[in-house]
Amino acid sequence: MLKILRRIVQEVSSVNSAKEALQIIVERVRSAIETQACSVFLLDRDNQRFILMATEGLRNEAVGKINVSINEGLVGLVGRREEPINLSDAPKHPDFLYHPEIGEERYRAFIGAPIIHQRQLIGVIVVQQEQQRRYDEAEEAFIVTIAAQLGGVLANVNLADLLTDPTDLRPLTITGGAVLIGIPGSQGVAIGNAVVVYPLADLDAVPDKIQNDIDQEIEFFNSALAAASEDIYALSERLVNILPPEEHALFDVYLKMLDSNSLGAEVISIIKTGQWAQGALRRVINQHIKQLEEVDDPYLRERAVDFKDLGRRVLSHLQAGRPAIPDYPEQTILVGDEITASALAEVPEGKLVGVVSAEGSHNSHVAIIARAMGVSTVMGISGLPVSQLEDKELIVDGYSGHVYVSPSDVIRKKFISLAKEDRELDENLAELRDLPAETVDGQQIKLMINTGLIADAGNALSVGAQGVGLYRTEVPFIIRDRFPSEEEQRVIYRQLLKAFAPRPVVMRTLDVGGDKALPYFSFEEDNPFLGWRGLRLTLDHPEVFLVQIRAMLRASVGLDNLKIMLPMVTHVSEFCDAKRLIERAYNEVLEEGEDVTMPPLGVMIEVPSAVYEIKRLAKRADFISVGSNDLAQYILAVDRNNSRVASLYDALYPAILHALIQVVEGAHGEGKMVSICGEMASDPMAAILLLAIGFDTLSMSSTSLLRIKWVIRMFSYAQAKALLEESLTLESASAIRQLIAHAMEKAGLGGLIRAGRY
Ligand code: PEP
Ligand code: MG
Repeated sequence: MLKILRRIVQEVSSVNSAKEALQIIVERVRSAIETQACSVFLLDRDNQRFILMATEGLRNEAVGKINVSINEGLVGLVGRREEPINLSDAPKHPDFLYHPEIGEERYRAFIGAPIIHQRQLIGVIVVQQEQQRRYDEAEEAFIVTIAAQLGGVLANVNLADLLTDPTDLRPLTITGGAVLIGIPGSQGVAIGNAVVVYPLADLDAVPDKIQNDIDQEIEFFNSALAAASEDIYALSERLVNILPPEEHALFDVYLKMLDSNSLGAEVISIIKTGQWAQGALRRVINQHIKQLEEVDDPYLRERAVDFKDLGRRVLSHLQAGRPAIPDYPEQTILVGDEITASALAEVPEGKLVGVVSAEGSHNSHVAIIARAMGVSTVMGISGLPVSQLEDKELIVDGYSGHVYVSPSDVIRKKFISLAKEDRELDENLAELRDLPAETVDGQQIKLMINTGLIADAGNALSVGAQGVGLYRTEVPFIIRDRFPSEEEQRVIYRQLLKAFAPRPVVMRTLDVGGDKALPYFSFEEDNPFLGWRGLRLTLDHPEVFLVQIRAMLRASVGLDNLKIMLPMVTHVSEFCDAKRLIERAYNEVLEEGEDVTMPPLGVMIEVPSAVYEIKRLAKRADFISVGSNDLAQYILAVDRNNSRVASLYDALYPAILHALIQVVEGAHGEGKMVSICGEMASDPMAAILLLAIGFDTLSMSSTSLLRIKWVIRMFSYAQAKALLEESLTLESASAIRQLIAHAMEKAGLGGLIRAGRY
C-alpha cells in the first residue's frame, strides 16, 4: 500500500493542474482498493455546499454540477464530523440522500473521509461499491491517508477556475483573478511581473514559458538533442566491452528514443504551440513517465527511469546554452518553491518589488532580508502553481499574505491606490527622521537597525538610526565559495563601522547552521535548528572564529564604535570560552602593533536556557540583546521556517512576554543595557509592549524604523504600561493582538497594520 500511496502522491504533485490531479486521484484510488467508485467533493465555502469535482464510477456528466449542502447527505455528515465514516449499507443510513443525477443507486458500501488543510475543511473523498460489505481497516486507513495528503495539494485550488469546465483535463492555466493565500512575509503592496526562480537540472521544476521565436527555439532544442545523443553514444562506446550485449543494447534503445522522429518530434510539436523548449520537454517526458508507470509489466515500468534520465540529459544541454541571468522586468516579483537569499541579490538594483515563496514562513531569513530591502513578500503558499506563473502580472499584498494572479482592473486599481497611500505614509514619516523616539510623556528609547547588507548603510542613516543593533556577518560568508580571508572581512567590516561612526555598531559573530548553510561547508543534520549552529559551531572551529574577531578588531582601529555579540549562547561556559578566544585575538592584534580598544562583549538571548541564566550571563557580559526570532521558536517549539505551523508562531504569546520581562529585569539587575534585535522589534504591535517591558533599545530593519518611531511618539509610557498589564491577563497572542490593534486604530495608527492609511 505504501508504494501505491507514494506513487499516487508523486504523480499528483508532478501534474500542473488541479483537475488533472483530481482525476488521477479518483482513478488510482479506485483501482488501488479494487472498488467501483471513487469521487472527490470540494467545499464551496461561500455557499457552504460540496461540489462533485471528479469521479470514477459515478456519472461524469454530474461533475461540477451536483452540489449538496454541508448540512445534508453522507458527504455533509463526513464534512461536519471531520472524521471518516465507513458503512456497509449506506442507503440504510438516516443521513443518506438519494441523488438520481449521479447514478449512485447501485452502491451499498461507502467510505467517506474529510480532506482538511490547516484545520480548514476542503472537501470529502468517497469510495463506493455495489456489494454490501464493510471496507476493512487497511482500506479505511488508506483512504484517510490519501485524504490527509490531498489537503496540501488542494489547499489553494480555485473552485471558480475548476468549474469553468470541470471535465476538461488539459493543464489548467491560472487566469483572471485567482487569489493565492500564504503567510505575510514583508509588509507593503507590490504590483509587478513574475520571474520564476527554479533549481537547474530539475525537470519537474521547469516552468511554462511562452516563446515568440519558435524557429530559434526549435533550433536550440535540436542542438541540445544532438548533444545528448552524442553523450549517450560516447558512453555506449566506452562500455561496449564492459557490459554484456543484452545490457549494452539499452543504449540503442536510448538513442532511438532520442531520435528526432520520436521524442524529438513530440517536443517540437509542443514548441510550435509557443511553449519554450524546456517546458515542452517537461511535458513530453512526464507524459511518457505517466504512461509507463501505469502499465503492469514491471520491465516496462522500469523504463520510466530511462525517460527521466534522458529528459535530464537534454535539459542540462538546454540550460547550459541559456543565459543564466533571466530578463528581469522593471517591477520584478520573484516566485519559487524556495527563494534563496542569493536569488534576491541577483535581481538588478531597483527592480525587485515582491517575493512569493511556496516554502518558508514569516521569520525565515529570506523574509527578513526582503523586509530589510522593503520588498513586499508572501511566504508559505502551499500548492503554489509555480510553473504557471512566469511573466504573469501579480499583486503581492504583504499585509494580508494574499497574492492576486492576473488581477481584474478593479482589483488593480484598488491596490494601486493602496500602494500610493503606503508611499505617502512613508513620505510623511520622513519628517520624523531627526526627532527622538520619545513617548508623549517623555520616555525615550533608542532605535537602531539590523543589517547584513552593506547597501543598507545609506538607507539606515537616512532614517536616522542611532546605530546598528545587529550586523549579521554571515552574508559575506554565504555569498563566497570559501571562507572570506581576514583582510576581506576587515575591509567589509570597516566600511560599516566607518559609515556609522561615532554611532555604535554591534557585530554578531558568525551565525551559520540552522537554515543558513555555507555552500562550501555543508553538513546534514536531522534537526538543524537543534544542531550545530551559531556559537556552537564557531567554538568548535576557533581558526574561523579567531580570524573573524581579528578582522573586526583591526577594522575598528581609530573608530572605537565596535561592539561584539555572541549568537546562540546556551550555557555560561560557552560565553567564557568565547571571551577567552576574543581576548587572545585582542592580545595578538595588540602585539602586532594595532592601536585597538577592547570592544564591549554582548550575549544574545535566543535559547530558553539563557533566559533562566540571565543573571549569570548579565554579570559577565557587557550588554544583552534578545534574538526574539529564535527565542520564540525555541520557547514555542515552532520551526520559524515551517509554514505548516506558522499560525502557532507568534512572539506575542504570553509565555514570550514573561520570558522577555525576566530577561530585562535580570539584565537591569546587573546594571546592563538590554536591547531586542529580533523581528519582534519591527512589529508595530509588539513595539509598544517592548517599550513597556523596559528595553533600552529596539533594533530592526531600516524600512521599519520610522514606522516604529511613529508608534512610540503617538503613545504615552503610561498607556504602554497599561496595555502590557492588560496583555498579561490575556491567554493568547491573538487576544493580545486584538487589544493592541484596537488601541492603534484609536491612536490613528491603523495604516501600520494593514494596507492603506484609512
Ligand atoms: C533572532 O534570532 O532573533 C536573530 C536576531 O537572529 P537571526 O534572525 O539572524 O537568527
Ligand atoms: Mg537568531
